[in-house]
Amino acid sequence: MHIGIDLGTTNSLIAVFRGGQPELIPNPLGQVLTPSVVAIRDGQLVVGEAAREIARSAPAQAAALFKRSMGTDREYRLGGTAYRAPELSAMILSALKADAEAHLGQPVTDAVISVPAYFNELQRKAVRAAGRIAGLNVTRLINEPTAAALAYGLHEREGESRILVFDLGGGTFDISVLELFEGVMEVRASAGDAFLGGEDFTEALARHIAQTAALDPHDAELRPALLKLAEQAKCALSTAPEARITAEVGGQTLDQTLTRDRFEEVTAPLLARLAVPLDRALSDANLSPGEIDRLVLVGGATRMQPVRAYAGRRLRQLPVSGVDPDQAVALGAAVQAALVARDAGLDDVVMTDVSAFTLGIDTAHRRGDRWHAGYFAPIIERNTVIPVSREETFSTVEPGQTELRFGIYQGEAPVVADNLHLGELTVQVPRNMAEHEKVKVRFTYDVSGLLEVDVTVLSTGKKASLVISQLAGEMTEAEITKALKKMKALKHHPREDAANLHLRARLDAAFAMARGPSRPWVTGLILRLEEALDAQDPDALDTLRKDLHAALDRFEADHVR
Ligand code: AMP
Repeated sequence: MHIGIDLGTTNSLIAVFRGGQPELIPNPLGQVLTPSVVAIRDGQLVVGEAAREIARSAPAQAAALFKRSMGTDREYRLGGTAYRAPELSAMILSALKADAEAHLGQPVTDAVISVPAYFNELQRKAVRAAGRIAGLNVTRLINEPTAAALAYGLHEREGESRILVFDLGGGTFDISVLELFEGVMEVRASAGDAFLGGEDFTEALARHIAQTAALDPHDAELRPALLKLAEQAKCALSTAPEARITAEVGGQTLDQTLTRDRFEEVTAPLLARLAVPLDRALSDANLSPGEIDRLVLVGGATRMQPVRAYAGRRLRQLPVSGVDPDQAVALGAAVQAALVARDAGLDDVVMTDVSAFTLGIDTAHRRGDRWHAGYFAPIIERNTVIPVSREETFSTVEPGQTELRFGIYQGEAPVVADNLHLGELTVQVPRNMAEHEKVKVRFTYDVSGLLEVDVTVLSTGKKASLVISQLAGEMTEAEITKALKKMKALKHHPREDAANLHLRARLDAAFAMARGPSRPWVTGLILRLEEALDAQDPDALDTLRKDLHAALDRFEADHVR
């Protein structure tokens, strides 16, 4: 059986083409969206919703957002073992494969997996490696925007057509301009903002809710509750003109009514940022908005009314409709899988070559009257079209300092310790007052993956340079074989127990969140679950699970109407 997979940053989906159309396959919890989170608990692998709950109560036992590290050397520690992003992705893929096999009642061997259009060779190889580690034969990788267009059947149109895919997910924003011509779908241009997504809208709204109630939006204890309220209100506003927020937070009773207009005002700075990639993709494709034949919205965050309205206004048309924006990519991957199986796969070409990760150096920042080293200063941002050359100026921090040392790093973390160290470069500077000696640091990155770093001292003209020929990232054949063995040795949590595991993980997360008398109350719920598990009465367990989930829903509070 040939299936299509959307391996997403926050959620993954799997679909199959049957009876002339693509359909999504549910996981053991009956949901089609499986959070891209993995955890190891009691030596067993846990994937999806339960792993996401574990991440809330015991973050060290779980890993999430690893799609961002595909094609890098970054390692995540889980259950005392180090894993790279393709291995973690393989855990998701193998859970999805098991779901499909249980649902279809037959083995699943072949898969089409979607990747962002901007993924470079290294990242694409990492996805293929993940497929192999999961025991899948990856017949094709399909670009996410192309898959979305396929889900709408846009590949069946006669003649030439230009499609703009507007994809706002949880954490990233991507615009792709596609051109369809004689059975070839070409990504003419793509642009994006790797740090803009639905979560930022939630964050802005949480701040607004806190400020309205005179609460500190940065209070770490209040944040989870505020974010949850904001997320619910945000989603409610996608279908209703206003949302009412009533909850107990930080010893205060909140009662606020939020209108769509207010939401639009609060998120205006984020909406403004949508313009940059949109303009850039159109100008790179040499097209005006009027030349776009079809507008496709992808990603859960395009359900927000202000975002839809913005896209429609800019492209002067209504988006194509009929497919859920969260599901389009997976459905399209299944369409492609069916086409490949019929030997008629649509060709999918990407034109852009971009840097997969951010490249930069370590710097010091002043906190109070002291300098603290180890902060990451990006020079070439990820998703920059290559070849590229960028320059930044830095200065000495200590009086009388005679040497400047630059650590060169690849990664997305704000502190260099969490990024990958690529090399080191030192230059001598004349003795001078603090911040009086300046140097220019130039990064040049080309298509063959060579990174050249040049440092010039402005006062003396002295130069130093370094060429880094191999950005780390690709898994070798030996590493893939080793990962396959690691995966085989890993015990998977039994699928039939998924619902109990999910509830237990949710109870644990509630316990971690609770304080005071709520804690013994949660413990009471845990005991009820454990007793029911001991008694092994499936019907009673079923009823109890529903009751406990309902109790947790109430506990997690936040009554948004
Ligand atoms: P994705 O990465 O495509 O799964 O998108 C996830 C993002 O979509 C998250 O930020 C969600 O909060 C957001 N989202 C999901 N459903 C809705 C909704 N009904 N209204 C607004 N945002 C939503």
